[in-house]
Amino acid sequence: MQPRFQFWGFECGNGWFELINQLCADIESAAEQVEIKPDAWPNVQQVKAKFGALRFYVDLSGFLKPLEASNPTIKDVRKIIARAEVLSRVTCEDCGLPGKLYTHAWHYVKCQACERIHQKKNEEFNG
Ligand SMILES: [Zn+2]
Repeated sequence: MQPRFQFWGFECGNGWFELINQLCADIESAAEQVEIKPDAWPNVQQVKAKFGALRFYVDLSGFLKPLEASNPTIKDVRKIIARAEVLSRVTCEDCGLPGKLYTHAWHYVKCQACERIHQKKNEEFNG
């Protein structure tokens, strides 16, 4: 499954895979509900972790352009993305288990076990 996502330029840990997978499935079903053809489905431009939360950048221009913000589908998609971003803040970016936000040199979300591994690696690296 990994190569398909790397092709899109994903810049976050594997722990968010399920979250992103669900996000994409929800967007697809929102598009299907209003009978938008697959070639007009929104294009994912960038997915990354920023300040410990998922950032999901998507091109919605194929979604009934003239209606823009008043288009309920666009609102639905924004809600779907916002929900995934909220979930990402409590989901370990390494393994997908419940995690919390750590604010060391940078912000990230990890579960206790992954944080321990991360700290150990840091200690080894710093000698
Ligand atoms: Zn973890």
